[in-house]
Amino acid sequence: MLSANVIWSKALPLLKPQMTEASYENWIASLAPLRIEDDGAFVLLTTSSVHRDTLERFYSAVIEKALREAGEAELSVRFVTKEEEQARPAAKSAAPGCPTLIPKYTFDTFVRGESNRFAYAAAFAVADNPSEAYNPLFIYGGVGLGKTHLMHAIGHYIHEQHPDYKILYITSENFTNDVVASIEKKDRAYLREKYRTLDVLLIDDIQFIGGKEATELEFFNVFNDLKNANKQIILTSDKHPKDLQTLEARIRTRIGWGLVVDIQPPDFETRFAILRRKAMEDGIDIADGVISMIAERVNSNIRELEGCLNRVVAYAKFVNKPVTVTVAESVLKDYVSGETRRSVSSELIKQVVCDFYGITSAEIESGRRDHKFAYPRQIAMHLSRKLLDCSYQDIGAMYGGRHYSTVMHACDTVEEAAEKDPELKKTLDDLVEKIKNG
Ligand code: ADP
Ligand code: MG
Repeated sequence: MLSANVIWSKALPLLKPQMTEASYENWIASLAPLRIEDDGAFVLLTTSSVHRDTLERFYSAVIEKALREAGEAELSVRFVTKEEEQARPAAKSAAPGCPTLIPKYTFDTFVRGESNRFAYAAAFAVADNPSEAYNPLFIYGGVGLGKTHLMHAIGHYIHEQHPDYKILYITSENFTNDVVASIEKKDRAYLREKYRTLDVLLIDDIQFIGGKEATELEFFNVFNDLKNANKQIILTSDKHPKDLQTLEARIRTRIGWGLVVDIQPPDFETRFAILRRKAMEDGIDIADGVISMIAERVNSNIRELEGCLNRVVAYAKFVNKPVTVTVAESVLKDYVSGETRRSVSSELIKQVVCDFYGITSAEIESGRRDHKFAYPRQIAMHLSRKLLDCSYQDIGAMYGGRHYSTVMHACDTVEEAAEKDPELKKTLDDLVEKIKNG
């Protein structure tokens, strides 16, 4: 069966035309799909018990009908409030029989937002049509942004649809260990047996495979065998394949045969939604104001976001107080987020570039496309990418809210130009020097 998220996203457009816009916004749009239970109950999270009562009285029938149509299954609807959900006994493991996958990393628990939309869509397409959609699928992005989570989600989903498939999730470190062990034991057949009989292979963090000759060779062989046998391969890495310089060119080429997608750092709304979801999963009672404060303060990666929530909750428990904004403030007072640390030097970069080209910071941030402004802007974006630990999206925000693809294009353009033009290269070096040493 399709996952709860997917069925819900198909049911919404069926529901919308059946009611007024206000009713839809009021009653339907705020529902969140949680899961499908063994008895076919489709569980939806409501915002309050009043909300739930109205839904039960007036909307159950239409929703049920839409769910059945969207899910092509005999589904019933069940509404729960946050309190009821938290009081529920711990969920059973979601994926019996697929031991290499972490149960909670599913599509249902993955919060979607602007920053991961493309990666999610690609992952879902592959999960829904293994070996047919994109092969290999390559997901890359910074640490703690959800690559491993998405990868497991694909594995779970395929396992649900095809319980007979052999699916293996492995880190590149363990893959390397396998290769080394097979060499030591002089037992290459073992590797062949283990990897080449798979239907789906998921290798996490393949940046660590690069530069180890025997491992690369084995990886290359496994990759070719699986690909030729039309088996699905999914890879993650912290960088785009073209930046994995230690990885052999022939491997990078093959990766390019499939689809390469990135995950960007999450925006505020996504961070908020992730924290909300996590608090609910863990049965933590926490006000939106506190969640909003953490989401504002911690903006680099999701692992850190979850860590901060845990710290705040643990501290509140320790001092025996409810989780309030004041408690959260005192726990996070020393936390300096990436953004704060960055804004100092991002301003500096902007200033140095503006001074050099004789324009103002309003002009560099403006949308004006004349070469006089657009060119320094590209230079500044390139330098920001080079000198700051921040994403294309962040840089876009610093320069008048530009889309990350625009920033990416600017960075590539300047980089390529500098390779051909020694004078530009020198200018860039001088600017870096000025930024770093005044
Ligand atoms: P990566 O592999 O990119 O370093 P992970 O997949 O390990 O990151 O994610 C780090 C943590 O953040 C995990 O606990 C994961 O469940 C959580 N996480 C990441 N992205 C999301 C998301 N979109 N929705 C919910 N949780 C997420
Ligand atoms: Mg990971």
